[in-house]
Formats: sequence, C-alpha cells, structure tokens
Amino acid sequence: MNLAVLGATGSIGASTLDVVARHPGRYRVFALTAHTSADALLALCRTHRPRYAVLSGVAEKRELIREFSREKTELLFGAKALEEIAAHPDCGAVMAAIVGGAGLASTLAAARSGKRVLLANKEALVMAGPLVMRAARESGAQILPVDSEHNAVFQCISDKKFIRKIVLTASGGPFRMLPLDRLAGVTPEQACAHPNWVMGRKISVDSATMMNKGLEVIEAHWLFDAAPEAIEVVIHPQSIVHSMVEYADGSVIAQLSNPDMRVPIAHALAYPERIESGAQPLDLPAIKNLSFEKPDLARFPCLGLAYAALRAGGTAAAILNAANEVAVEAFLAGRLAFTGIPRVIGETLQEVPGKPAADLAAVLDSDAAARHSARARVMALAA
Ligand code: NAD
Ligand code: MG
Repeated sequence: MNLAVLGATGSIGASTLDVVARHPGRYRVFALTAHTSADALLALCRTHRPRYAVLSGVAEKRELIREFSREKTELLFGAKALEEIAAHPDCGAVMAAIVGGAGLASTLAAARSGKRVLLANKEALVMAGPLVMRAARESGAQILPVDSEHNAVFQCISDKKFIRKIVLTASGGPFRMLPLDRLAGVTPEQACAHPNWVMGRKISVDSATMMNKGLEVIEAHWLFDAAPEAIEVVIHPQSIVHSMVEYADGSVIAQLSNPDMRVPIAHALAYPERIESGAQPLDLPAIKNLSFEKPDLARFPCLGLAYAALRAGGTAAAILNAANEVAVEAFLAGRLAFTGIPRVIGETLQEVPGKPAADLAAVLDSDAAARHSARARVMALAA
C-alpha cells in the first residue's frame, strides 16, 4: 500500500513511521510532509525513501530540491502540494497528521479522492464534519479514526443500531488536581507535561484545558453519527481504557491498551487485519487500579463550550476551533494566561455569528472571522 504521511515530522508522524518500518514490504512510503523543518524531513527521506516530499510552509529553493533529489525524492513546496499529494492517483492511504485547521484542505482532498484516510487531524472534522463525511460517502473513501478514543469506539462497535451511548475517556491532563486558584499561573512547560502521553504542544495544551475532549466529542458526533446527549465524557487518569460503547441491553464494551499511539495507528493501517505495533503488552496486575470520575466543568470550561458549539450547529464548531487555536498559540507564546484560553473562546463564540456549514467557503469564512476576533480578545486581555 502506498502511504502518504502528512505531518511526518510530528509526534503522530513519528509513531506512524515507526509502525511502518516494522512491516517492510507491507507499506511503501509514497510521500512525507513537514511545514518548515527541512532538515528533519530530509532525514526521514533518507530512511523511508518516499517518491515525494512536501515543505508546505517554505518557498521554492533550488538548493533544497537538489539535496532531496540525491535521495531520489522529488521536493514540492507550498500548501497546495499537500492537496495534490493527498489526491494523487498512485497514493492509496493518507495519514492526516497535520495539526490544526491547516490540515483541513488536505484531509478533504483525501476524502474526496476515495483514499483510505487515517484520521489524526481531529480539527478537520470539528471544522467541517459534514463536508468531510459527505465527501467520503460520495467517493467511497474509508475514514479510519486514529485518535485513540475514536479508534477504541470504532473497535467496540458491532451494530450501530443498538448503541445507547458512547463514553469517551479523558486523562484529565496535568491540572486535574491543581488547586483552582493556581490555574491562572501555570506555564506552557507545565501544561505540555502530560502525565501519560507525549504529544505535540498544541494538543498537549488542549488536553490540559480538556478542549481536546471537547473537540473529540464533536469528532465522535460526526464519525459515529451520535447525538450530543449520547456522548459522555468520563475522566480516567490511568489512560488504559481508551473509550467505551454502551448498548441497549446494558453491556459496555471497552478497548484497553497501554497509552501508546502506535496501537490505534497500527489498527488503522492494517484494518481489518492486525499487525504488531511495537507497544508494550498490557500488564493489568502491575497497573492494579482503573478509576473513573465525572469531569468538573468549573475546572474545565472548554468542555462545556465544545458541547455548546456542537449543539449550536452550523459553523459554531469551526469558530470554537479557530478561537482555541489562536488562544493556545498565545498561551504557548506567553501572551495569554492559561485561564484566558476559555475566556477568549467563550467571548469569540458570542461575538462571531455562526452560519450554516454549507460549503468549504462558509467554514473558512467563519474560521477567518473567529481568528480575527480571538486575536482582538487576546490583545484586550493582555492590555
Ligand atoms: P505535532 O505538532 O507533533 O506535529 C504536527 C505536524 O504538522 C508536523 O509535521 C508539522 O510540520 C506539521 N504542520 C504544522 N503546522 C502546519 C501547517 N500550518 N501546515 C502544514 N503542516 C503543518 O502534532 P501531533 O501531536 O503529531 O498532532 C497531529 C494531529 O494529530 C493533531 O490534529 C492532533 O490533535 C492529532 N492527535 C495527536 C495525538 C498525539 O498523541 N500526538 C493523539 C491524537 C490525535
Ligand atoms: Mg484522543
């Protein structure tokens, strides 16, 4: 299978290439992409020998083209090249692992072109769920969730007709127990020190605010066609149960593994077969306890904001996502307090009117308006 890894230099990209390298002959790395890290991308090309590489955030440079061509890789530049790769006729599967709304166009291109889409880029579904799902239905593309919770749910579904609810587990992040009055002073380094997972910085902050779970509720809504009331979030600090499905008869089916993204990645790569992922087998006696608790919405207002945006419908979720991206970037740059993140998102949702998510233009329009408004909110809070 010819595989393109969009966002190859990231955390999911690295885990994907690790699994792929364990199965030589099964997958051929067709293309690898990075935004600006040319050196890291070149190093990956030396190992994986793709036909194409893309630097989406760099203008064309002859020198770089020459360096990559020594590895027999054709180097392309700019964001449009991501869509060309995702839709390329010789490409069979696309790992969508770009972070944020920047991954939407290429994810949509893969869905429109009938690829097997291994979906890590949850923001694409949050922004444009109906468009991505419709594109996949029309082209026959198969969307396989890589996000560990959704991959778990996918594995737990036998018959959709009899599902009563979906239970998404959440670790609660690094600040689950922190006294509330200390939240305002936490640093980006503390927010990125996740207790169970090593991830990119944006999703790490999202986990700390629990916006990550909010985005995942919206993701689950589109992937599994589940009403907001039928999606519940439960805090499970050990991150061993990755999610659950409850059926009409009261049976609850769960998927368990050590917290290692290579497990859902290997599942999505090989589905419906199973392959070795490199993850340590689960040792339940060593773990001893699995615990569960209700999330505290006063500590994690972002989760409530995400449910509200999902219920509002239209482009509200795209507005939520855009405001979150702006707020998280400002927090990571030291320009916004941690507790400013939900404030910026809440105010942006009030200020920017949503509209029907009829097409990509409508979604991108709301996205741009929300970013503009959120930047003003950040400035106002900093002043
Ligand atoms: P990361 O920051 O480690 O990597 C991001 C990748 O995207 C890099 O290759 C980077 O070059 C590329 N990129 C960044 N900005 C870009 C832009 N504007 N245009 C094109 N490419 C760009 O992120 P990650 O942790 O690997 O997460 C990737 C996606 O997977 C996110 O949507 C995240 O929510 C999702 N996800 C990640 C994990 C995890 O464990 N890391 C788990 C579940 C879901
Ligand atoms: Mg997840």
